Amino acid sequence: MPRDDQAAAPLPFAAPPAPGEAIEAAPGVLWMRFNLPFALNHVNIYALEDGPGWAVLDTGIGDEPTKLAWEAAFAGPLRGRPLTRVIVTHHHPDHVGLAGWLCETHDVPLHMGETEYLTSRFYLSGRDAVHGDFQRDFYSRHGMDAGLVEAVVGRGHRYLEMLTGMPPRFVSMDAGETLDIGGRRFEILKGGGHAPDQAMLFCRDEGLFFAADQVLQRITPNISVHAPQPEGDPLGRFFRSLAAIKETVPDGTLTLPGHELPMTALHRRVDELRGHHDARCDQIMEMVAEGPLTTAEITPRLFRRQLDAHQTSFAFSEALAHVNRLLCDGRLVAADDDGVIRVSAA
Ligand SMILES: [Zn+2]
Repeated sequence: MPRDDQAAAPLPFAAPPAPGEAIEAAPGVLWMRFNLPFALNHVNIYALEDGPGWAVLDTGIGDEPTKLAWEAAFAGPLRGRPLTRVIVTHHHPDHVGLAGWLCETHDVPLHMGETEYLTSRFYLSGRDAVHGDFQRDFYSRHGMDAGLVEAVVGRGHRYLEMLTGMPPRFVSMDAGETLDIGGRRFEILKGGGHAPDQAMLFCRDEGLFFAADQVLQRITPNISVHAPQPEGDPLGRFFRSLAAIKETVPDGTLTLPGHELPMTALHRRVDELRGHHDARCDQIMEMVAEGPLTTAEITPRLFRRQLDAHQTSFAFSEALAHVNRLLCDGRLVAADDDGVIRVSAA
């Protein structure tokens, strides 16, 4: 998730909650922050008053320090009150990681969109789900050299290590449905791009919007094409979701995201995210003005910092998201040259 250079909008909270503490972001809504062992070093967790206890939104990653952070939260800001349910926005490990452990330990249901739930179960089903020759093809078809392909695909299947399993049952959340939490009525919104069908919750009466990772305040949500769907257009889906958010959620709404700080200048941030990706697309069009390029050639020109194998796979997948958007849009055309795909201006 690259950082943007945009000037910060006025923020409702100047700083995040300290470890082990919570900020009451709205009446009966506690905002906590758990650590992540990544460059993006934290995830926001929300606890919403729900009758006698708390409904929690997202879980943190499935590791021992995060389990300890939950124990501390129950003894601390959650004041020993019980968990009523676990609501998960999308299948990424920093959000769903401890769903299995929390639901089992507290004997509570998991609420999650069907596509996101099944995606988690799919990735948990084993190495074969994500590894195979199609992974190598995915990179080499776009011109990545063989040594780098091996470094990128040889990283192993880490998803299994970042989750404490998944509950065998769930309650599905679909777009257009509503969810009552402690007397508040939330509209369920869905959006693709960052994840196949990420869930967001909007309480119109009180002007509260849980945006998950779809709109983040300072960083740009990762939008990537993955090997099982090499011609996918996640950026197009992300653009449609941003437009729908602007249409549904009024500007000025208190927006509580999955990472970084809450914001109220929601529409401006949506416009900034759209502008960021439009600029990247324009950069690619400038590059191909000099001649056809593979996505492997475009990647280092789009992401100019030095990248290791892990970062290269992320950068490549993000670059391909922009290439595929431009192909879908008719601004680029693709030619297959001896099994290697090169794109040029249409
Ligand atoms: Zn996230």
